[in-house]
Amino acid sequence: MPSPAAPPPEKMMFQLSLRRRGISDQAVLRTMEAVPRDQFVDPGYRDGAWRDTALPIACGQTISQPFVVAFMTEQLELRPRDRVLEIGTGSGYHAAVLSRLAADVLSFERFKTLADRARKRLAELGCRNVEVVFGDGFDLPETAGTFDRILITAAVPELPARLLERLDPGGVLIAPVGPPNGRQTLLRVRRTPNGDEHKALGEVRFVPALRGIAREL
Ligand code: SAH
Repeated sequence: MPSPAAPPPEKMMFQLSLRRRGISDQAVLRTMEAVPRDQFVDPGYRDGAWRDTALPIACGQTISQPFVVAFMTEQLELRPRDRVLEIGTGSGYHAAVLSRLAADVLSFERFKTLADRARKRLAELGCRNVEVVFGDGFDLPETAGTFDRILITAAVPELPARLLERLDPGGVLIAPVGPPNGRQTLLRVRRTPNGDEHKALGEVRFVPALRGIAREL
């Protein structure tokens, strides 16, 4: 019999698969276990929510694969005081993960339905340090200021120069860069006193970033 405090088997498998694939940051692993992914998927997919796969969400978009969420988060090297910008709220799952490891998260989504649902879900889960904005994240208003960390969770053809301008000294930006319907390279840019350092972190597959707000709901 498992002890009463042991997490359910599906969560244990989830942790195990993240560790096996190389996630070692304890804070990231704890966060991945704590954020209820089943609350971010459509009811029909709840049974598979703790499996390491991407799943469809509304508006033809996807909630990313947990390993990819954990890996991107680990590579962001979040500090508790960080101000984070996310482009591509989707389900709000990654924003919830970020919110537990940073001070503030501002997240943009170009589908109104997704933005509204994510906002509601995050509020219900008590993520008070996340602000979800319905809008094109690449059209960031001047008043939004600058960020310690920028995470783009939709594929971009090249590193967005206008977002790089918003990265603070010592900041980190992570984005999937490459063709919209193929594989992209996950790129990390670190702003150092000696200039920007770029590193390719591996191959990924994301839905494309599109400009403007979606005309469909
Ligand atoms: N981070 C999400 C998954 C992102 S899927 C999660 O945890 O569930 C990528 C999302 O980026 C989609 O919802 C898509 O609509 C959104 N997106 C694409 N282009 C965008 C843009 N220009 N501004 C804001 N959101 C955008």
